[in-house]
Amino acid sequence: MQRRFPEPGSAVVVGAGMVGLATAWHLRRAGLDVTVVESDRVAAGSSWGNAGWLTPPITTPLPEPAILRTGLRAMLSVDSPLYVPLRPDVDLIRFLLGFLRHSTSRAWRRAMRAYVPLNSQALEAFDELADGGVDEPTRPGDPFLACFAGADEHRLLMDEFAQIRAEGQPVAAELIGGDEVRALAPAVSDRVVSAIRLEGTRFLDPPRYLASLARAVRAAGVTIREGVTATEVDGGTPTRPAAVRVREGEQEERLAADVVVLATGAWLGHLARPFGVRMVVQAGRGYSFTVPVDPMPTMPLYFPIQRVACTPLGDRYRVAGMMEFRRPDEPLDPRRIQAIVRAARPLLAGADLDDRQDEWVGSRPCTPDGLPLIGPTRSPRVVAAGGHGMWGITLGPLTGRLVAELVTTGRTPDVLRPLDPLRR
Ligand SMILES: Cc1cc2nc3c(=O)[nH]c(=O)nc-3n(C[C@H](O)[C@H](O)[C@H](O)COP(=O)(O)OP(=O)(O)OC[C@H]3O[C@@H](n4cnc5c(N)ncnc54)[C@H](O)[C@@H]3O)c2cc1C
Repeated sequence: MQRRFPEPGSAVVVGAGMVGLATAWHLRRAGLDVTVVESDRVAAGSSWGNAGWLTPPITTPLPEPAILRTGLRAMLSVDSPLYVPLRPDVDLIRFLLGFLRHSTSRAWRRAMRAYVPLNSQALEAFDELADGGVDEPTRPGDPFLACFAGADEHRLLMDEFAQIRAEGQPVAAELIGGDEVRALAPAVSDRVVSAIRLEGTRFLDPPRYLASLARAVRAAGVTIREGVTATEVDGGTPTRPAAVRVREGEQEERLAADVVVLATGAWLGHLARPFGVRMVVQAGRGYSFTVPVDPMPTMPLYFPIQRVACTPLGDRYRVAGMMEFRRPDEPLDPRRIQAIVRAARPLLAGADLDDRQDEWVGSRPCTPDGLPLIGPTRSPRVVAAGGHGMWGITLGPLTGRLVAELVTTGRTPDVLRPLDPLRR
């Protein structure tokens, strides 16, 4: 799409998670005056307690045929890695119907093809931020291990890798035995009989990385206003700028800007819907906590059958999991933490799972077709940047770069076409 308004000189970005901050950094670098408004504080949303994996080889759409085969009944159990409480919620029902409609091989392949060109640039986008002053490092997976306790359990993931490769995404993976796993990660229990060793990944410490990104964004001259909630967006016209109505305590204010970027994660729908974004963004809530592990694994570990994801975070190990389709602001449900503990205990012998800190729940911004929503809305001055589901950390920096490209050139980059926020 060609820009239908003069070259922009200013932007308001709503939301200070990975996507909003990376977008602010790139817009500022392109020369715009940028203000970020954040209703809570930097990284208050999903960008704080996630697993911090940067795993382009396995960055794939969430809806897939296996959900139809195995997931539906399991979804209703509190112990299941995927949980949907039964309740009359129109958006949730719309989301689930759309999600099921996209859980076919054909839809998965189409969405996967949209991910391939994004995945190939994802890690390099982190190097660009590092060169630009983000001093918290990303670390190589070295190696990333997906561990299995049953003899044939690896087959499902290997089959999935074959399907990913068939759509053009390289995946370098090899099967290793249990003893080899323990040589690399001695804290893994004897129950683990094999693992898939995956190359081409990195990981980061999310709280530290987001703090470092926020520092770099501020140092570049962006104002980040925390405790400021966007309540309404005025999309402007080709000759009149857009504006965001914000509330800070009792105060209300109108912030005018040539462009407004909505990077509000699982809360995207509220502000984006008036601009034609009809696709539901559903909170896919996940839980995490940290524990001491002896000896500390130096790499991320994944237990695919249990859907538990682990990452080194300084001197503790973050253990994360669960996909709970509930409202984003509901309180943490301790039963879900217990379910992760029960799943991890037999597999992570070296972990003291009772010495938990930082118990956390956060909301993955999930779309029914498993693709993010990135691009101009019905108002060309209002850009959506959200809906990354399981992969907003991996794809956040690249998203920022692509949004800045579309804002400054007025043209939607080709890789964003399948992510059109106005698609049905
Ligand atoms: C358990 C778990 C593990 C995960 N592991 C990984 C992983 O290993 N790798 C990976 O790539 N991804 C992972 N993810 C997904 C990833 O965390 C998300 O995709 C990503 O954080 C989304 O970033 P965001 O900036 O879009 O949203 P958020 O980080 O949620 O940020 C949105 C921000 O907008 C603010 N906001 C909302 N409404 C308003 C408003 N009206 N006004 C002002 N501010 C507002 C919120 O307070 C919030 O700070 C995981 C998620 C979970 C839950």
